[in-house]
Amino acid sequence: MSFVSDKVNNLPPYLFSEIQQKKRELQANGVDVVDLGIGAPDLPTPEFIIDRLTEESKVAANHRYSTYSGIKEFREAVAHFYQRQYDVELDPETEVLAVIGSKEGIANLMHAAINPGDTVLVPDPGYPVYGPAVHLAGGKRAALPLDDTNGYVPLYDQVDDDSIDQAKLILLNYPGNPTAATASYETFLEAIAFAESNKLLLVHDAAYDMITFNGYESPSVMQVPGAKAHAVEFGSLSKSFNMTGWRIGYVVGNKEVIKALAAFKSNIDSSQFIPIQKAAAAALRSDFLDVEAHNAIYQKRMEKLYAGFRKLGIEADKPNGTIFLWAKVPDGFTSVSFANKLLHEAGVIVTPGNAFGSLGEGYFRVALTVPAERLEEVIERMKQLDLKEVTR
Ligand SMILES: *Cc1c(COP(=O)(O)O)cnc(C)c1O
Repeated sequence: MSFVSDKVNNLPPYLFSEIQQKKRELQANGVDVVDLGIGAPDLPTPEFIIDRLTEESKVAANHRYSTYSGIKEFREAVAHFYQRQYDVELDPETEVLAVIGSKEGIANLMHAAINPGDTVLVPDPGYPVYGPAVHLAGGKRAALPLDDTNGYVPLYDQVDDDSIDQAKLILLNYPGNPTAATASYETFLEAIAFAESNKLLLVHDAAYDMITFNGYESPSVMQVPGAKAHAVEFGSLSKSFNMTGWRIGYVVGNKEVIKALAAFKSNIDSSQFIPIQKAAAAALRSDFLDVEAHNAIYQKRMEKLYAGFRKLGIEADKPNGTIFLWAKVPDGFTSVSFANKLLHEAGVIVTPGNAFGSLGEGYFRVALTVPAERLEEVIERMKQLDLKEVTR
């Protein structure tokens, strides 16, 4: 007899645990490990956000349950953000919902939007959270292939017709994790057309919508005329404002889907702590100077690493956003053999590309979440390695 459900037993193993185990072993042996594996911002949450949390947490009324959909002040701040950033109008009552981070929102959305057996099109390579979210809701995942020949925009014609027929939902993520690919408005126009003609719900994960540079500004799916009939878009304070631990995000768009997700969630959670929602509202209504300053830091790190990689003969597309650099492993290596070489011979942790789907094979992801000096150290250590070695 087992007390554990098949659902949980059949979850894929946590990919990062083995690497973290190895990291502890190396550190115990005195190795100065540089961890570029986990994509969590290292910069602090801006002070005005923390101040607002502190003030609001002293107000007794804020210690009560939030309204299930999130407090009005937060939903209005999200609508205000969409107006300002994208010139998109949202009804904060029916088209905005607070979530406890977009990870929670996406996982619960699967339950609210699909039936067991339904197919979900998931980007490959893509954020590893999507697959298990589909699995936990009883869905089947079909890969939506992305590749670098066309800048990682969806290759709809490479998905077989049966998968498209059986699909109920399609996930997209731009600026993207792990590829750092960015989308143009046309990419979203095409995505909405694809969703409409195949009767799919388009779910766009915009976790890095504000982390952009080189003059690039990320569009919103909601800017496409008629998008609300076919799509929802998730946003998160985690990356833009360095608030990963705060657990606050939102989903906007299709009323029916927002209502269904709110109904589902109201049976599971009671939304986020009110002071956190108020602090997040202040962030969304702020001047974004902190976001710009942080983006400049990420860009500088990215440029440094990109230049170092070029000298080492490692190919990468120079990104216009996110906190990642996605690079090709040198000839003769697999994603895993190269990541292992970096770990064992240079004390550097990167994520092997195949952790993000089979089409990630041949690549590795670097998180730009350490100071520039540490990235210089990484380049110095990599110069000492024999990158021509064939380990196949
Ligand atoms: C970090 C990240 C998120 C954010 O998750 P939260 O739950 O809001 O912290 C969502 N999607 C992608 C692709 C991410 O990389």
